[in-house]
This record gives sequence, structure tokens and C-alpha cells, in this order.
Amino acid sequence: MAETPVIYWYRQDLRVDDLPGLAAAASAGRPVLPCFILDDTLPERERPGGASRWWLHHSLAALAQDLGKLGLPLLLRRGAHADELAQLVAQTGAQTVYCSRRVEPAEAARERTLHEALAADGVTLKRYPGSLLFEPEAIRTQADAAYKVFTPFWKACLREPAPAAPAAAPDKPAAPATLPGSLSLDDLALLPRDPDWAGHWPRLWQPGTAGARAALQRFLENAIGDYDEGRNHPQREATSRLSPHLHFGEISPRAVWHAVTAHCQGQPDLEAQRHKFLSELGWREFSHYLLHHFPHIVEKPFKEEFSKFPWLGNEQLLRAWQRGMTGYPLVDAGMRELWRTGYMHNRVRMIVASFLTKHLLVHWRSGERWFHDTLVDADLANNTCGWQWVAGSGADAAPFFRIFNPTLQGKRFDAQGEYVRRWVPELAQLPDKHIHEPARAPQQVLAAAGVVLGETYPEPIVDHGQAREAALAAYGSIRSEA
Ligand SMILES: Cc1cc2nc3c(=O)[nH]c(=O)nc-3n(C[C@H](O)[C@H](O)[C@H](O)COP(=O)(O)OP(=O)(O)OC[C@H]3O[C@@H](n4cnc5c(N)ncnc54)[C@H](O)[C@@H]3O)c2cc1C
Repeated sequence: MAETPVIYWYRQDLRVDDLPGLAAAASAGRPVLPCFILDDTLPERERPGGASRWWLHHSLAALAQDLGKLGLPLLLRRGAHADELAQLVAQTGAQTVYCSRRVEPAEAARERTLHEALAADGVTLKRYPGSLLFEPEAIRTQADAAYKVFTPFWKACLREPAPAAPAAAPDKPAAPATLPGSLSLDDLALLPRDPDWAGHWPRLWQPGTAGARAALQRFLENAIGDYDEGRNHPQREATSRLSPHLHFGEISPRAVWHAVTAHCQGQPDLEAQRHKFLSELGWREFSHYLLHHFPHIVEKPFKEEFSKFPWLGNEQLLRAWQRGMTGYPLVDAGMRELWRTGYMHNRVRMIVASFLTKHLLVHWRSGERWFHDTLVDADLANNTCGWQWVAGSGADAAPFFRIFNPTLQGKRFDAQGEYVRRWVPELAQLPDKHIHEPARAPQQVLAAAGVVLGETYPEPIVDHGQAREAALAAYGSIRSEA
């Protein structure tokens, strides 16, 4: 009789190397059966959005290839996690299911329920770390509480032993002799159809571990030397673009940490850049840490007083923002970059988020949901914390009165208007001086550039000065109630 396998349940850890759970499964002395389950029964919020589904399709294809090189299959299923795993256990006789732990509240709860359900059938669910540099339980204040402020949190992380060096993929794990039924990748129906709005994305992105390594290599060769300054300028290719790869677990954060550290070793002029880049990975750690310790922030403001904030909830304004038709060129460029590519530069994310929540007084959750559907790196922890940070309601958030002026931000960080010209082509012929403020350009300048405000490009949907005053008044109303 064929030896019963152990199951490795893939979640957001779509790689074969430096994966403690897979390594443990492979060293259990039994054949390893890797599986991935697409759970379309989850609430919409917990399912991948449209852009993420595109990424997931290609990432699973890459994972299947990487597993194939180890001689392992990738079993695909669709349905409720608990039902599908119970069925797999029954079909194979497996006694142990391995997986990587997740810290998102619903995922962590699912692990607990699954653990109990499997245990009732005599099956063990074993959870392993692997998606973070530091496990959230390990980092505590001197008063044994959870940190709420980034800088002391990150300093505490850096006082810990450095993350272990990344481990190689398991060496020749045994594959099961017989396989239960599997769906094909196409059966998961992850790709967009009618229309296929992602037809050009394979030219922009390479999902999977090989793509992650290539992105990291490109960043180290071309950009890390100017990271601290370059990362503020949306038209430069100055950041790593590792976010979707990290989100889907195609590369481990400690592999990134060690590659960056090794690259910068012996180059004192790169030390500050290394420090800055690792601290951005630190923000990723912090977001996941906050979700673990304060799970309510997925839905509610971290700062209680913001639960009374008088949001407007204006659908028309939300739609103009989503479509990149606000009349503020940098905001519109960012929203259109997002729509076309599934990505938006970090500084522009801050500006469009500030614009939605403060200029338009639309709830941050409407923005967060749009990002969830449209970003290839949509990540519950980073997205929730990013939005709450900008809206002023998050832990260690930007003060509410820090209201970005999108025109000044454009003049400062896109001085020649390259970013705006690329994503808002109807403004391309405007001179640099007016590219961020077409509404103030003289009529003959607009005419020479072929711009007709209100026709070829919208008038600003709100006046910056008035919107700023309204936002401060709204904020004042919750402070006076506190
Ligand atoms: C409103 C808003 C929403 C956001 N939503 C997401 C999201 O859904 N998913 C996501 O991964 N990031 C999100 N971010 C954070 C950040 O914008 C992206 O991680 C970054 O732009 C990705 O580009 P990069 O990989 O080139 O970053 P790099 O500058 O190369 O940074 C390296 C890595 O550090 C992490 N990182 C960098 N900045 C942050 C940050 N501010 N917070 C948390 N982690 C960070 C990412 O994993 C990133 O890949 C959001 C930021 C804001 C302001």
C-alpha cells in the first residue's frame, strides 16, 4: 500500500525556498502533497480583488513549475477551505497538515477553527512562521504591551537577533505515489475576461519567485544607491516593486533582508540607503503587527474619536476619484497608473488617499476597497494601515492637519511633469509651469496645448483652499466632542 502523505496547504506563501512549513513537511519522512484552495465562499473583503486574481493565476503557474523541479505536484481545489482540506485528508489518509501562519484576524481565526475541526478527526494542523521578519508576539514594550508607535517598534525589532539566513528549498522531497483529483489552473477562473483588461500586464510584471528575484536584482543594481531620495519621485524607477511578490510570499522578507545587506556590505556610502530600505520593510512588519494586536482596525479606526468623523460618502466624488477625473493632475495620474498597471507609487498613494479622505471627505474604507480590487499588491495589513495612517485615524498616523496640497506635491516631486504627462496624456502639451495647475493657466496657453477645461480635462472638482477648511472643520467637530 502507498505510504500516506502529509499535506502542505499553500496560502500566501507561494514559493518553495525559505519556507519553514514546507521544510518541516518534507522532513516528516513521508511524501508531501502540496495543495492550494481557492475559497470563493469567503466574504468579498477576504477574497482577492480583480488585480490580485490576475497575479494569483500567474503566481500559481510559477509555483507549479518550481514544485515540479522538486518532483512535487501542486493540487488545486476550489471551495471552502475546511471542507476541501477535510476531503483531502479523507482521500489521502494524511494525519498532518502543514501551513504558514497568517496574522490577518479572519485568517488567524480560520486557523484556530480548522485546528479544532481537524483535531476532532485525529489530524494535526501545524503552523509555521515565514511571512514576517519578526513574529508579532516577540516584540513587546518594557511594560509588556504592544507597541503603537513605529520608531520604538522598529528599534525593538533591530535589537532582536538578525533574521536567520534564508534556507534552500527541501532537498528531493518524496512525492505521493497516487494523487487525488485536482482542478486545472484555468478551472479557478482567476483571469479577467470580457474584457481582458490585463492583456498588457505580462509586459509589466513577472509573478512568481523568478520574477521576485529579478526585481530584487534590478533594484540592487540600479536603484538602491539613490533610494532615500529617489523613492519620493514617482516618475523614477527608484523603488524595488517587490510589494506584490512579498504579498504573495514569492520571496521571503528575510531573503530580501539578507540580499540587501550582502549587497551593501563593505560599501559605507550605501549604509544609509540600506537602513532606509530595511525600515520600509519595517513598516510592512508594523502593519502586520498592528493587525495581530489590534484586529478591530480592519474595520474601525485605531483612534476611537474618528468613529464619529462626519464622512460625506458622496458617490459622485468617489467615482471621479476612481476614474482619475478630479481636475488635480497628480491625483488623476496616480489613479490612472493604478487602473492601467495595478500599481501606484507610494508617494502618490499618500496624495490620492489624502485627497479622498480630506479634500472629498469620503470614508477611507471606500478608498481601501478600491485599492483592494485594483492593486496587484493589495494587502489587508499594509492597505488598512496605509489608509488609516493617511486619514489620521491610525496608530502613529500622520496628524490630520497634514493635508497634502496635490499641486505643490506635483511641483515638488514631479517638477518637469513627466509622471503627469505619462498618465494624463491630454495635458502632455502643457508647459512645465502649468502642468500641475491647468485651471490657472492662461487661456492662450491652454489653447496652444489643446486643453479645453471641462471638455478635454475636468475643472477641479473641489477648490483646494475651501476643501482644506472643510476638512479642518470636520476634524474640529470630533475633537470638540472628545
Ligand atoms: C493609502 C496606502 C495604501 C497602501 N496599500 C498597500 C497595499 O495594499 N499593499 C502594499 O504592499 N503596500 C501598500 N502601501 C504601502 C506602499 O505604498 C507600498 O508597499 C509600496 O509603494 C510598494 O512599492 P515598492 O515595492 O516599490 O516599495 P519599496 O519602497 O521598494 O519598499 C520595499 C517593501 O517595503 C514594504 N513597504 C514599503 N512602504 C511601505 C508602507 N508604507 N507600508 C507597509 N509596507 C511598506 C513593501 O512590502 C515594499 O515592497 C500603501 C500605502 C498607502 C499610503
